Amino acid sequence: MFDIYNMWKTHRIILPEAREMIINRCCDCRFFICIQGVQETRYGCVECIPQYCSLSTRVPNVIFVMDLMKMAGRDGLKKIMEKGNPGAQACEIWLPRVAPKKGPQ
Ligand code: SF4
Repeated sequence: MFDIYNMWKTHRIILPEAREMIINRCCDCRFFICIQGVQETRYGCVECIPQYCSLSTRVPNVIFVMDLMKMAGRDGLKKIMEKGNPGAQACEIWLPRVAPKKGPQ
């Protein structure tokens, strides 16, 4: 007889959206960037900045902290820095990085 309970016990279903979150880390995300300060460099997630989140502007790989402060403000910068762990599990907004354009050949 077909035992449906044992079938579910041995098979795991992962929804496609959940799969992206499970297998990826913040360091592979488009919104995870290097924030260049005066004395040190840190990482952060700029997903909360509307112009980057809407993808109307390309997300840079490195940005100066003062430029970021002008865009997000002091509280926004704090929020950006809180998500600065490269090994953290990706959230539902995760997007792959865009490969840099190749120059003329
Ligand atoms: S996965 Fe989510 S938290 Fe991590 S960098 Fe991307 S948008 Fe930010």
